[in-house]
This record gives sequence, structure tokens and C-alpha cells, in this order.
Amino acid sequence: MRHRRAPILKKIASCHCGAVQIAVSDYPSEVTDCNCSLCHKSGVLWSYYSADAILSLPEPNLTDTYAWNGHHVDFHRCRTCGCVTHWIPRDLTRERRGINARLFPPSALAAARIRHRDGANTGKYLD
Ligand SMILES: [Zn+2]
Repeated sequence: MRHRRAPILKKIASCHCGAVQIAVSDYPSEVTDCNCSLCHKSGVLWSYYSADAILSLPEPNLTDTYAWNGHHVDFHRCRTCGCVTHWIPRDLTRERRGINARLFPPSALAAARIRHRDGANTGKYLD
């Protein structure tokens, strides 16, 4: 009998109402608390993923978007419950995308290191 390959266990980021679900291959080991005006007011913690590490994204009709400060990325939020869910660069050749790590289970977030980024001023990490 042939061995079956173990199924890939997806890790899911889900908004409060569950309409927006984002699947990734692994929970983040590190998340970013950015102090720029938008992140500060949204209260998000960002986990960064390359495009190929994101296994699925919500259908476009499930989110509204917001862009500011040069409009390089679209910040998505659930159209139903309002949770900020992720951002995607408008230039899709840019590899990095952000997922709100607060949408992962609390236990996954508790295991991650929180880094503080001075997005409001220098753009550098403070730790
Ligand atoms: Zn929702």
C-alpha cells in the first residue's frame, strides 16, 4: 500500500463574521505593530507573506478597500463586519502582502514575536 502524503493543513485568518477568510501555509512567527496613522488607528498587527505563501484570498465583492499616502497598496476590510483583513500592493510584481495577524486564532498570535515599526517617522523597526 502506498503512503499518502500528509494533507497540507491550511492556517486560516478569519474576520469577525467569517465572511472573509484568508488561507496561508503557516502562522507568522513575527508580527509588526506599526505606528503609522492608519495602522495606529486600525489597531492591526501585520503579518507579511509573499504572494505564493497565501493559499487563498476572499472574493473581491466581500471587501471594501482604502488607500492613502501614495496609493501603493489597497487596505481591505470586511464589508459585513468591518475588520481590517489584509493589504495587497497595486503593483502585483511586488512580492510582499500583509495580513492582519489579529484574524488568526489568539493562540497563534500569542506564539509570535511582536515587533514595533516606526512607520510614522523613520520606517524602521524600533527593536
Ligand atoms: Zn466580516
